[in-house]
Order: sequence, then C-alpha cells, then structure tokens
Amino acid sequence: MSEIARTGKQIVDAAREISPWVQDVREDLHRHPELRFEEHRTAERCAAELERIGVNVRRGVGRTGIVGTLDGGGGDGPVVAFRAEMDALAMQDMCGTPYQSENEGIAHLCGHDGHVASLLGAATVLAGVRDRLPGTVKFFFEPSEEATPPDEICGAEAMINDGALEDPNVDAVFGAHFFPDWRAGTVALKPGVVFSGNDVVRLTVRGRESHSAVPQDGIDSIYVTSQIVTATQGLMAHMDINEAISLHWTTVHGGRMSNLIASEVVLEGSFRFSDIGLRERMPAQVERLVKGICDAFGATYELDFGVRPMPAVVSSSLETSTMRQALIEGLGEAAVLDMKQPRLAADTMFHWLRRTPGVFYMVGTADDNPATQYPSHHQKFDISPETYPTAVAAIALTAHRFLEERGQERRPDDGQSE
Ligand SMILES: [Zn+2]
Repeated sequence: MSEIARTGKQIVDAAREISPWVQDVREDLHRHPELRFEEHRTAERCAAELERIGVNVRRGVGRTGIVGTLDGGGGDGPVVAFRAEMDALAMQDMCGTPYQSENEGIAHLCGHDGHVASLLGAATVLAGVRDRLPGTVKFFFEPSEEATPPDEICGAEAMINDGALEDPNVDAVFGAHFFPDWRAGTVALKPGVVFSGNDVVRLTVRGRESHSAVPQDGIDSIYVTSQIVTATQGLMAHMDINEAISLHWTTVHGGRMSNLIASEVVLEGSFRFSDIGLRERMPAQVERLVKGICDAFGATYELDFGVRPMPAVVSSSLETSTMRQALIEGLGEAAVLDMKQPRLAADTMFHWLRRTPGVFYMVGTADDNPATQYPSHHQKFDISPETYPTAVAAIALTAHRFLEERGQERRPDDGQSE
C-alpha cells in the first residue's frame, strides 16, 4: 500500500469517527444562527476549536472572518486552502427539530452551518496526520456570503482584501456547497463553470405622458415595455439548449394614474448564464431588441447590465482531477459523481477562484427522510447525518493528495522512490 493510500484510509476512518461531533457542532450552530458580518459567536467557536487542535488562528480577517493555518512538516511546501461560509439567512426556521433556530427570523437554511462544522472536523482530522502533510493547509471561515453587492462588500472580498490569500501564499482554494439534489454520501463535481454568472439588469423605457382620452399625444411606455418583455423571451427560445441560461424580468414599476398614459416604466431582471461568452454577447442582443422596439414607437431607453455583476464560479481542470482522484481512491467510485450542467445559482466562491485555481464542489445531503429533501433556502431545509463522514473526508483527502502531488512537483530531485 502506498503512503498516499495508507494515509487516505486513516483519513476516511478518522472522518467517520469524528462525524457525531461534527453533527453536534452543526446543530449548535443551527440553534444560534447569525446574519452577515454579525457572526461573532460562530467565528469565536471556529477560532477556539482550531486553537484547541494546534492550528494558528488569525481573527478579524475581513471583519468577522477567521483564517486558520496548519503547517505540516513541509517548510516552504505547497499551500492549499478550504473555505466555509458562516452566515445564516434572514428567514424563519420551520424545521421543528430540537435544534431549531433560537434566533427569531434568522436561520441556517443554506447549509452553511454544515459547511463550517465539516471544515472544523476536517481540520481536526488533518491535524491528526500533520507530520505527513508536505505543506500547509489554510482554513477560511468566511463571513457574509449572502451580502447584496454593490451596496455591501461581501465576506470573501473583505477577507481577500485583508490578505487571507497571503502569508503564506495560497496555491489553490476548495469550497463545498451542500445540496439535497444528491444523496448523502456522494460528492458531485465538474471542471469549468459550476455556478452560473448572475447579473441584475435594469431597463428604463421612456415614452410620453398624455391623457388617455388623447392617446395620439402620448407614447405608451407600458405597451412598449410589454413588447420588450415578449421579445426577450423570444430571444431565450433561440438559445443553445445545451447552455444553462435564464433571463427574467422580475420587477416592473410604471404609471401614476388610471387616466394617464404612462411616461416611464422601470424593469429589473435577473440574467443567469453558464457560458461566459454569453455575458459578452447578451447585452448587445437584448439592446438590439430594445432599441428596435423603442424606435418603432418613438420611445427612448436606458439599459444597464452592470447593476450587480456576479461572475460565474469556475473550477480549474487540474485541481478538479486531483480532487476526483483523491475521492475515488478514498471513498470509492460510487461516491463521486459528475455534475452534468452548471447550476443557475450564484456564490461568492467566484472571488477566490478568480484569484487562484481550485474547485467548488457539491456535497449530497439527502436520504430517505423527507426532511432532508427540501431545497436550500426552504424553511424546513435539513441535512442527513450521513452527509458528514463524506463531507469531512472529501476535504481532508483532497488536502492530503494536493500537497503530496504539488510537493513532488516542487521537489523533482528528492529521490522519493519507495
Ligand atoms: Zn449558500
């Protein structure tokens, strides 16, 4: 048995052993959820657990963020980082379990409590094999994943601005998201776009107000806008069916009195796309329609695709294949699934993966209990206990293998033969 396989087996066993503790931590965090940039209790729990197992801790990185650094025996070896988000949602918890949220109107309904608990479990497992890690593992506990840019900076950006990726410099960042679309005990991943890009689009259509008794004096901005709404859906009907894409107008405001033809309508929409090239092409395509329709009726417009840009989350191929290999060897083929299509969701993981290679992967959380089958952000969202052995092992196996592989690349003449 090779050294990687031997340590891999030890990691998988340790992950299973620590899972009841991980579940306890998750349930504690679930009872005490905190909103964005208010994760004081959560952050302190992370810092305390890391210090207890001998991991160096930096507090207050990106306001309430925590960075843990676990030095293996690697000296100036490679550095791999894992990220978990700490914030909860401003929603009422309806899970009805003994660990239901005790904070009125705040709940962990996106699985971030499970992400944090699993990363703490993995840190403990990795600390147990630290003398066999030829490099450094960093743990990012990220605040405010659910920020609403551009009004607010998000936690990932705040942590990066505070130097989370430096000292020592990080070679790759990995991040998990729990998802009930897959069974507990599985991990799904793919290279390339994992979560789609997600833009807020704003369109203002200006006509001319007139009394509805003299329509010949007016330009009806509501009528013009309705033509644009119809036409943009026609555009969607002509997209490549292999691409994940959606453009929906989600708010509409216009008009001021029932006897006046409306002078102005403001639409906001959500544009999500898996193909980064579409982000380049779509604004011009939509504008062609808007301009054509406005011109035809004498209206004018303003179209803005840059209200709140959220780029796609993209996994790098090399790191995806390192992770895949680590999981297949450690957990078996059946536990590792290929994600077929990107999700039309958004995540601040793009901030990390824009700066370093790395992987955003999905951890299955559903079992036969219907309580584990609600989608994320549902008020009854819950997680199968069978999630944790896999979630913890996925992190620790990947960290170990990444450091082994990249460490060997850095030391080609070390004579590592057996
Ligand atoms: Zn989330």
